[in-house]
Amino acid sequence: MGQTPIETFRELLARPRRIAITMHLKPDGDALGSSLGLYHYLVKKGHRASVISPTDYPDFLKWMPGNEAVVVGPDDPEKARWDFESADLIFCLDFNELSRLGEFEKAVQDSEAETVMIDHHLEPVGFETYRYWDDTASSTAELIHRWIVEMGDASLLDADIAAPLYAGVMTDTGSFRFTNTSPAVHRMVADLLEAGADPHAIHEQIFANSTLDRVRLTGHVLSNCLTVLPELRTAYLRLDKEVFRQFNVRTGDTEGLVNYALSIKGIDLGIMMSAQDDMVKFSFRSRNEVSASELAGHFNGGGHFYAAGGRIKADMDTAEKQLLETLKDFMAGS
Ligand code: 5GP
Ligand code: MN
Repeated sequence: MGQTPIETFRELLARPRRIAITMHLKPDGDALGSSLGLYHYLVKKGHRASVISPTDYPDFLKWMPGNEAVVVGPDDPEKARWDFESADLIFCLDFNELSRLGEFEKAVQDSEAETVMIDHHLEPVGFETYRYWDDTASSTAELIHRWIVEMGDASLLDADIAAPLYAGVMTDTGSFRFTNTSPAVHRMVADLLEAGADPHAIHEQIFANSTLDRVRLTGHVLSNCLTVLPELRTAYLRLDKEVFRQFNVRTGDTEGLVNYALSIKGIDLGIMMSAQDDMVKFSFRSRNEVSASELAGHFNGGGHFYAAGGRIKADMDTAEKQLLETLKDFMAGS
């Protein structure tokens, strides 16, 4: 499926529409930030818009303008389903396969609304009616900014649109240090600052807002839960349920931990395994020639070349064994 011409989007939005905006489960700064940036833009254009998150998200993202309007699916499933059902258009942001909606996959499938996918992950499956996709973009937030400019609406950018978009691009580029940080990113950021985004305030909200438990969790995990396999150029963190209990771990508390594994000299693959109910979730981060997304493919997941995720239904011991077996072949070929 090809990219949808911008004229088609202009026609699509030429009259007021009922729009639902949604994002992948366990939304990160980019998923939520791009959704809220788009939300403020669409409302400013005279559309009726709602934002639905399929799950909860970390407290350090709750400062964004429009946060109070977000329907958190599990808190209000009836409202979430109704918003999908009654929409003319559903914008799907920061994901490209409907399974990433978790329990709300069916609500979107069953809706008669047309869908717009705006995303930068590899290998879209093609569920959508309209597509605005670029896997070389740093973030979905960058794509929302680009799309608004192409729509001819650069003059509408304001602080409510710019602040969430800044949060999106900042978190997905690791504060402008990952390989996806381009000249276009910095030009866009200049635009966002001129529109009123306050970088200092946003960094403080996201990075200087931890509970004491979270800081102690970091120390514990790095001291006690990290295994380094120099021959496989791999370091992995194993977070058992006990750790989650001990540090009262809340959504978002483990975000960023995997980057410590990858920060070790000589290591090209960092992994975090987290115990979740009857599943184990994997976060993969890589550098040089190692493809995190390819490895995630072995664990029912995907993502970007250098950052990806997956999961298997298993206990920790089984999952760890499976990981180590997969790694032997995988790293030999990387
Ligand atoms: P994280 O490890 O932070 O959960 O995810 C890293 C990156 O991979 C994010 O961009 C995330 O959206 C993506 N990702 C995580 N899980 C999956 C998955 O199951 N499928 C795909 N396509 N992407 C994923
Ligand atoms: Mn993203």
